Amino acid sequence: YICGEGSTLIESMEGKIGRPRSKPPYIKQNGYFNLPTLVNNVETFSAVAMIMNMGLDEFVSYGTEKSPGTKLICLCGNIKHPGTYEIPFGLTLKEIIYDIGGGMSDDKDMKFIQLGGASGQIIPADMAEIKYTYEDFAENDISVGSGAILVADESNKIVDYMKSVIDFFAHESCGKCNPCREGHRELKRIINKFVNGQATEKDFNNMVDIADLLADASFCALGRSAAVPIKKAIEYFKDEISNY
Ligand code: SF4
Repeated sequence: YICGEGSTLIESMEGKIGRPRSKPPYIKQNGYFNLPTLVNNVETFSAVAMIMNMGLDEFVSYGTEKSPGTKLICLCGNIKHPGTYEIPFGLTLKEIIYDIGGGMSDDKDMKFIQLGGASGQIIPADMAEIKYTYEDFAENDISVGSGAILVADESNKIVDYMKSVIDFFAHESCGKCNPCREGHRELKRIINKFVNGQATEKDFNNMVDIADLLADASFCALGRSAAVPIKKAIEYFKDEISNY
């Protein structure tokens, strides 16, 4: 997972352990074996090819003025038709989940959505009227990220979900910096207390402090972004989490 970070990808391509580099110098100047290197994702490169083929006017006829074109999304979680879809920007999350994804798999109520992958924002179901565009997401402090849209129904406990996210990042942390390595070790210990009904107010406050520490002091984007789902879950589901 950390090799999705540009400089870490270059390190691993050079045969070294996958750990991020200090920047500057940036990889566009000193990348693969110190040569100028262009790193971008496959979707971006494929969009360039599509624009060249169809022409800019047709491409921008999809989407909105500020988010022209289409986006590959990955719909998953408790929905009837999970999968990868190409959508025009501008649909609401609800339209994507119900019209494309077929709605909730067991016809239960939707509880929350995580947007953009494991490090994406967790939002409650009542925010599903937000349009899938860069500008609408920015207004609501959400990122499009990887394009993943994970939908959870009412049977999911938020602390169980937070545990799966924290366990994932604790495993993926490369160990280079203290805030991320030790922060995740401690977050794992704390979230297990929540899951087992043994958490206290002090544990809640410590979890908030560690999430802030991850966001402020981690060496690379993995640690900084791992704080995002924790902070958002606390923002929107504080009552459920702190019901100790
Ligand atoms: Fe490694 Fe995490 Fe530090 Fe990034 S933030 S350098 S992944 S330990």
